[in-house]
Amino acid sequence: MPAAFFGHGTPLNTIAANRYTQAWRAYGAALPRPRAVVVFSAHWYVVGTRITVARKPPTIHDFNARFPQELFDFTYPARGDAALVERIVELVSPVRVERDAASWGIDHGAYSVLAHLFPNADVPVVEVSLDRAQPPERHYELAARLAPLRAEGVFLMGSGNIVHNLELADRTFGSEPFVWAARFDELVRGLLAAGDHAALVSYHRLGPDARLAVPTPDHYLPLLAVIATQRANERADTIVDGFAFGSGSMLSISLAA
Ligand code: ZN
Repeated sequence: MPAAFFGHGTPLNTIAANRYTQAWRAYGAALPRPRAVVVFSAHWYVVGTRITVARKPPTIHDFNARFPQELFDFTYPARGDAALVERIVELVSPVRVERDAASWGIDHGAYSVLAHLFPNADVPVVEVSLDRAQPPERHYELAARLAPLRAEGVFLMGSGNIVHNLELADRTFGSEPFVWAARFDELVRGLLAAGDHAALVSYHRLGPDARLAVPTPDHYLPLLAVIATQRANERADTIVDGFAFGSGSMLSISLAA
């Protein structure tokens, strides 16, 4: 099963039809049907490794009140997968995992993309949190332990944005990137093409552009979770790319042989 990272952009992409959501739809339609999806979302960035265990994980409307009612009314009714949760717990052991039945569910990082990949919500979804107490190396190592799931028919996905700086976001930019944003995006693509995971994990050493592109780790870490499962014969293919508001890279990549 391929694994993929998605640049999710604004929560509005959940209900939008644009070239990003169209590319996600086409990608989902062409995928072999997975048994389940494991998602690392930028929007579950908490202390500890938690996994959603509800039979029907709630749709989390984790965005501010300025968004339209239609987005608050949106639900993504995928089921959970208790057996998969136990398999994950086994694979990441001895890392301690908290089974989360009530505090979280499927957040907009996950469903803004899932709504297009699997519009019928008929593939079970399990979310795994990003542990904010851990350095990037630990995220990479934890996700690498989940690589066997791909051979078991599980679609592993990360959802974030390789360049994500809300403070500098500028609507007047349209789809044009800031110079530093374009440079960092290019740098990351080059490292992905070269398979240089060590440099991608140590992104904070990639200079001043990295500090602007990744002001906080949450939207970048899901990329590390995905590439941690990359096999030697796999390439990182671009699903779609572009920029939103100057400082948001929409680059989505798929790992496949
Ligand atoms: Zn986000």
